Formats: sequence, structure tokens, C-alpha cells
Amino acid sequence: MDFEYTQAEETFRHEVRTFLDENLPPKDQRGADFMAQWLKKVRAKRWVGFAWPQEVGGGGGDIMQQVILKEEMAKRQAPPLGTCMMGLAWVGPGIIQYGTDEQKTRFIPDILNSKYHWCTGYSEPNVGSDLAALQCKAILDGDHYVINGTKIWTSLAPFAQWISMLVRTDNFGSTATKHDGITALLVDLSSPGIEIKPIENMAGGKVFAQIFFDNVRVPVNNRLGKEGQGWAVTIASLANERSSIGEVTAMYAKLDSLKMLIKDSQRQGKPAMEDQKIRRRLAVFEAKIEAMRLNGLRYLTRQIKGEPLSSETSVNKLHRADLEVEMSDFAIDVLGQSGLQLGNQLETIDRGKWARESLGWPNVVIGGGTPNIQKNIIAERILGLPKD
Ligand SMILES: Cc1cc2nc3c(=O)[nH]c(=O)nc-3n(C[C@H](O)[C@H](O)[C@H](O)COP(=O)(O)OP(=O)(O)OC[C@H]3O[C@@H](n4cnc5c(N)ncnc54)[C@H](O)[C@@H]3O)c2cc1C
Repeated sequence: MDFEYTQAEETFRHEVRTFLDENLPPKDQRGADFMAQWLKKVRAKRWVGFAWPQEVGGGGGDIMQQVILKEEMAKRQAPPLGTCMMGLAWVGPGIIQYGTDEQKTRFIPDILNSKYHWCTGYSEPNVGSDLAALQCKAILDGDHYVINGTKIWTSLAPFAQWISMLVRTDNFGSTATKHDGITALLVDLSSPGIEIKPIENMAGGKVFAQIFFDNVRVPVNNRLGKEGQGWAVTIASLANERSSIGEVTAMYAKLDSLKMLIKDSQRQGKPAMEDQKIRRRLAVFEAKIEAMRLNGLRYLTRQIKGEPLSSETSVNKLHRADLEVEMSDFAIDVLGQSGLQLGNQLETIDRGKWARESLGWPNVVIGGGTPNIQKNIIAERILGLPKD
């Protein structure tokens, strides 16, 4: 493993840092006007969709540049590079890899320009971990598919304009070849026959929903990839998230916030930072994040050598889920009763973020695959143990 950066990489890091020095005000000065300007500026730098090919409007950045960009942004707790989160994370990459030229022209510029939100319709009631068992069906009728069924836990659905979803177009009721017969469709959420029912989470937010499809007609030219190719389209799109280095930097930023909180807190009349138990916990968090970082560098080394990544990222996903929960709960312990305040008001400590993050544990633990599923992946694909 080579820990050194090339001169060109250091120059790029300097460019990012200079941009942040000049364009990123302290957090309490980042209002709606700042955000609008920020999105325009990072788009002009081609840092939105930085890994995407330049032909579609992306930045054409290489792996190391992506890592540097993510690292520097996360260190400074900068806002995201674009607000179309799922569009940038996997819908766009899926369209770039499998979409027609017409689909690329229709969707990619809007994703890069943060024009609207996409959501992702995989899970259904009774279908989550075993995704290939999905039942929501689409029957071809002339030049349209007709969708009937439901999707659940669809994050961002209450605000999104489009959904990238998986439907069954063949193999109804078959379990032997259930990965076949799944098709990916891009669906306008304002289509007649769609009903979106928001679901409230523990922290009182309504960020996900159940979506009902009742004879929803979707043009065939909104199909992503070939009919029956949906599984491959999904695996390839989700594999786009390249390494966990950016995530690790975000964990370091969270640890910094935790340290700041503790510096400002008291324990039994003394500065909380002097408490040995608290100091020990902070040291353990730091050691675990460092282990994640080194693990991430191992994946990165493989990527730089051109070796494909497959299941290795499950290791850091598992660690991150545990750590996020432990750190948020620890902050609440330190804060005591005041840590339970959820409101996003100035007078609430850290604007209620610790309580929200503590109650928001399903985001990091369940979203993207449960710990049991990650452990199965590690056992079978990395350790070579017998199949579940
Ligand atoms: C915050 C949040 C956001 C989400 N956003 C989206 C979204 O945007 N789009 C979307 O499609 N879905 C979304 N989901 C759904 C998520 O992908 C599923 O909840 C997840 O895949 C688990 O599926 P399930 O809920 O059906 O649970 P199940 O699959 O029924 O699992 C229940 C329990 O059984 C265990 N289990 C299941 N199979 C195995 C096995 N083979 N071996 C060992 N243990 C097993 C699981 O680990 C879990 O503990 C979201 C979920 C959450 C919590």
C-alpha cells in the first residue's frame, strides 16, 4: 500500500482547499441563498457527478481525485455536491451504463443540476433482504408497461418527482429463477394511478413512504436496460459507490463534533473532558474509525490496481452502523436530559442533531442492507463459508 500522493494529486487537493477557503462560510451562515450559489459553483467546477464521463456532463475525475474531493469536503463538513442524492449515487450511474442516448439526454442534466429528487423502489411489504422475490408486476400493453403493486420504505418518496424501480415482468410465482424476469423502470411519480402515503419515523420525520401503483402506464422507452435485465442493472448501479474513504472522513467529522460537545459539557461539576471513562470511549471511537480508514485504503489499493470490488465494502458498512449508533447514544448520555430535545432550533444543543441521529439508527443499520445480511455476505463471499 502506498500512502504517498503524487504532485498532481497534491495540486488537486490544494485546488479543493482553496475553493473551500473562498466559498464555504461557517455553518451558521449557510442559508438558502448560500446553498443556491454553492450548487452553481460546484457544478461549474464539474465536481457534481465528478466520477461521471465528461461526455454526459460529468467531471471525468479519476479514483484518487474522487477520494481527495470527498475527503476535503467531509473534513470541512461542506454541503453535498448536488441535492439529487439518489440520482447522483446510483440512478445516474445506472442510466449512464444502461440507458439509451435519449434517456441520458432527458435525465442526466437534471440530476447534475439538482433539478428534482429521485427515489428508489426496491423493497415491498414482505420483500426486503430477499429482494429478488419482489412481486410488483408490470405487463406489456402495446408501447406501455402497466404496473400494479406496491413499494414500501421508499426514502424521499414524499418529495421526489421520479422513481427508479424494479418490477416483475416474467417468472411470476417462480422461486427457482426469481432473479430472472425483473425489469428496471424509470417512472414519473405524477403518473395517474400512483398514490404516495408518507410513513412517519421515530424522530417524527416523514421522509419515506409506501407507494401504491394501480394500472400505472409507463412508456416502454422509460425502461432501463433490456426487459428481464433489472437485476444486473441494479447490481451495477449500486456498485458505483466506489470506496468508503469519504464515509470514514464523515465519521471523523462526527467524532470532532462529539469532542466539541464534550469540551462544552460538565460531568459532576467538572469538565466532562477530564472524565476518564469519557476519554476512554473517545479513544475507542477513534481507534475504530482508524481501523475503518485503513480497511478502506485496502479497497482503494485494489481499485487503483484495476481489481474489481465486490463484497469487501460490507465490512465497513457493518462497522459504520455500529459506530454511528454508539456515538450518537454516547452523546445523549453525556448531554443527559437536554440531549433528548429533537427540535431544529438555535437554542437546542447542536440543533437536536444527536437525538435525531440516535433515533435515526435504522438509516445506517437497516438502510442498504441489514447487519445479518452484511454478515452473510462476509461469511460466504469473503471467508468462503457455506451458503446460508
Ligand atoms: C431508513 C430506511 C430507509 C430505506 N429506504 C429504502 C428505499 O429508499 N428504497 C427501498 O426500496 N427500500 C428502502 N428501505 C428498506 C430496506 O432496504 C429494507 O428494510 C431492508 O432491506 C430489510 O428488509 P425488510 O425490512 O423486509 O426486513 P427482512 O428482510 O424481512 O428482515 C427482517 C430480519 O430478518 C433478518 N434476515 C433476513 N434475511 C436473512 C438471512 N438470509 N439471514 C439472516 N438474517 C436474515 C434481517 O437481518 C432482519 O433482522 C429502507 C429502510 C430503512 C430502515
